[in-house]
Amino acid sequence: MRKITIDCDVCGTRVTLEQGKEALFEIGNNSYHLVDLCSKCLDDHLKAADSVNDTSGYRQRAAALIRLPGFTVPDRTG
Ligand SMILES: [Zn+2]
Repeated sequence: MRKITIDCDVCGTRVTLEQGKEALFEIGNNSYHLVDLCSKCLDDHLKAADSVNDTSGYRQRAAALIRLPGFTVPDRTG
């Protein structure tokens, strides 16, 4: 079994694919910005979100569809 890791697009933490989460941030009408998030950054953005929905992911079965105030996208901090 191959162990696949991803780097969180916000803080840079390396986590296994299972621990990470694909998140699509709405940036406009049918426009999305795809990022990988660790569980901590996912929590932070879920709290800040205007709305959160489930959607199908590209590599994962389920991804989070998140709209932040003002259609902003997460900044990379790490
Ligand atoms: Zn993170």
